Amino acid sequence: MFHVGETLVYSSTGRTSYVKVKEIFLNEDNQLTCKVVSASGDELTATQEQLRDPNLPDIAHIPSNIPDYKELATTISDDQLKAIANPVQLSPLQEEWLALHERLWHLPQSIMFRMVKAGFLNKKFLKLLNNRPPCVSCLFGQAHRKPWRYKSSTEGTASTLRGNKVSKPGQTVGADQLVSAQPGLVPQEKGALT
Ligand SMILES: [Zn+2]
Repeated sequence: MFHVGETLVYSSTGRTSYVKVKEIFLNEDNQLTCKVVSASGDELTATQEQLRDPNLPDIAHIPSNIPDYKELATTISDDQLKAIANPVQLSPLQEEWLALHERLWHLPQSIMFRMVKAGFLNKKFLKLLNNRPPCVSCLFGQAHRKPWRYKSSTEGTASTLRGNKVSKPGQTVGADQLVSAQPGLVPQEKGALT
């Protein structure tokens, strides 16, 4: 919570500056509001969302100058720095392969390699057989493709109606049974009800 006399950072559309809290009150909508004074002496009315502690960095703050970079680099782990500094680099051949993959409307790479072997595509791409570049579009596009119609078992094999311990005929057969309250009158579930 802010208190009177505290120095805060005020940010509003197109404006960020240091301000001093002069008064805290509830406005007509019962929202906590601060009357603040900027360094140039202007008096502003600010909501809680527009004010923040200068010691707490803004989540949307992206460093733009060297001192900022140096300060923030101490809070980033070495692995993260390595990943930022060395994005995955593709060889010229891999780039050509991916461009071809795109031109073939993202044809699966396994089929593309079959086409290389059959002579439809340049044989030089065989070098990539064990070093295929990832196609980000394909990876993200297929990420959500999980089987939903058929449940697989925990081992990953397709599920079956036949249990593991089934040895005799009839062990997996189940049937729904309707019991009629009126003997001889069987509920009808199909056709025109009579
Ligand atoms: Zn692709």
